[in-house]
Amino acid sequence: MTMAKPPASPYSGANASAPVDGVKRGCSEKRVIVIDPGHGGTENKPGSSANNATSVSGPKEKTLTLDFALSLRLQLASAEVKAIFESRGYCDVGVILTRETDINLTGSQRVAVATVNKADILISIHFNGGGASARGTETFYKSASNPQQSNEAEDKALAQTVNDGLYAAIRALDPGAKNRGAKPDTDTQLKSLGILRDAGIGLSGKMCRSILIEVEFISNVAADALLVSGSNAKANRDAAMLGVAKALARAL
Ligand SMILES: [Zn+2]
Repeated sequence: MTMAKPPASPYSGANASAPVDGVKRGCSEKRVIVIDPGHGGTENKPGSSANNATSVSGPKEKTLTLDFALSLRLQLASAEVKAIFESRGYCDVGVILTRETDINLTGSQRVAVATVNKADILISIHFNGGGASARGTETFYKSASNPQQSNEAEDKALAQTVNDGLYAAIRALDPGAKNRGAKPDTDTQLKSLGILRDAGIGLSGKMCRSILIEVEFISNVAADALLVSGSNAKANRDAAMLGVAKALARAL
């Protein structure tokens, strides 16, 4: 089978559309960010289980991914983040969620939301579970050694920017935060992860950078108190997602 030639990166060569240093563009270009709250519903679907981790205090990962996605959408509409968009010449930034209720979608349906809407960035939100002592924030991108990857360098750069922004925001709230870094999805048990393994990824006809964030280990009591169950959890969640929103705005 012959693969379609991957779309050229708009960040290099003759197709470059990134702003020239020091030159502020007009506000004509539309940009789209798709946020994918991981899991959902009660049925496992191809490429997406209904739920994986459950927090120490009870809420399921599928609920937290949606809560955090809704917060991220709010932060992306904040004056602080809009100012970053506008300073970069983007006055029209669409933000779309793959789901807004407690339903599960297949991995392909999630990726299709980005493809159909010609997204510039697809960010999937997840939480880790594990031993009680495990902690930290990590972000995955698709390895060049996996199929359908045509822009590993751009995905990796975005993963690093977003991971740094998320970690810094959590670290500002809790000195116990840990940065597990940006990693290729081949660094996981199954050598690929979540929507990053979907065959439709990277085939939108427009380069869509795709990352998957694991916000924290909700199996950890301190991380759970910080982001799920503590009295400041909602404010902390919003602060963490503001860190992500600012990083996305700088990277868009
Ligand atoms: Zn997950």
